[in-house]
Amino acid sequence: MPIHTCALALLTCPICGDPLHAEEKTLRCEHAHSFDIAREGYVSLLRKQASGGDTKEMLKARRAFLERDYYAPLAQTLTDLLAAHLHKRSVEQTSPLTILDAGCGNGYYLGSILHQLPPTIPSQSLCALGLDLSKEAIRMAAKSYPDAQFIVASLWERLVLVDASIQVMLNIFAPRNAPEYARVLAPDGLLLIVIPGPHHLSQVRAELGLLNIEEQKQQHILEQFAADFTLLEQRELAYQLTLDQDSLRQLVRMTPNYWHMTESIEQHLSTIDSRPCDIQFHCLLLQKYS
Ligand SMILES: [Zn+2]
Repeated sequence: MPIHTCALALLTCPICGDPLHAEEKTLRCEHAHSFDIAREGYVSLLRKQASGGDTKEMLKARRAFLERDYYAPLAQTLTDLLAAHLHKRSVEQTSPLTILDAGCGNGYYLGSILHQLPPTIPSQSLCALGLDLSKEAIRMAAKSYPDAQFIVASLWERLVLVDASIQVMLNIFAPRNAPEYARVLAPDGLLLIVIPGPHHLSQVRAELGLLNIEEQKQQHILEQFAADFTLLEQRELAYQLTLDQDSLRQLVRMTPNYWHMTESIEQHLSTIDSRPCDIQFHCLLLQKYS
């Protein structure tokens, strides 16, 4: 699987920041830093072998959970929000619309949005990229969504992207690097952030003693981005699911609760048949100042 040409033009070397070009099965910069293109078409642009990121077990749990479409209403809400705002944008663009998912995981949301956007929106071609620290997640994403270019990269270092090259950025339950997001977004670019609301999974969190959701999280994020962004729209999505034992176990394993999984949580889970769960997401659509 070759690298997507439109994406290649946006990428920079993680070591020196220079542009990259493709040479057979590698990407190279002028300083001869080189990065192999994997068989699945993704590239790792890490300066050094990274530790951290989601484990294989977390990724498997998340994929199994998402495949049951429990969060499909979120993917649809994000598509609707973007479609409404992209519709208002100028139709005279000739270069492709660049969309980046920062912290894309297995590509579920980016893939769903690309699939669901009405064919008339945008009125130009799309160039989609997903970045994640986890190589395993990127491998899954590259296999599942060949329409996008996936890159193993850190969100905490200088992003491997040209200044002002991205028009739409997604950041869904993922780390937020405000200065770098501001640097790579084009003037008037959109940044769509999703965080869990305070009531998200409240019953299950209480019953199993799981991690709490930070109070004032939304306010905190708006302050983080206030220097370069204005809030265009915020939308809350709330609904209820009934989850069986398998799904509840996946839910615990696919989140940072995975790192705090104890014998007693496992034991308690094994006694549960099913539970009603409140789902609550906050979607914040920000726009970079022009
Ligand atoms: Zn370089």
